Amino acid sequence: MKKKFSCPECQCDIVEEVTEHVTVSYPIIQININEEDVEADYDDAINEGGELSRFQCSNCGFIIEASNLEELSKSEYMKSV
Ligand SMILES: [Zn+2]
Repeated sequence: MKKKFSCPECQCDIVEEVTEHVTVSYPIIQININEEDVEADYDDAINEGGELSRFQCSNCGFIIEASNLEELSKSEYMKSV
């Protein structure tokens, strides 16, 4: 079975999993020094840790009461596709 989000407020179909207390690291490949500025070239960010905070509509921020994916899947706002 597959389900997709359907926001009751704005009909957006993207739900976001919001995570708090994440440490984001940006590896620096090199530092570029020129006359006006000092800039760095970064590699892809690395996320570490974090705890699920909430699920919300990607568009309007409507919050779905669920504490994990299983509960989210049982939400009335998740429709079978
Ligand atoms: Zn919405």
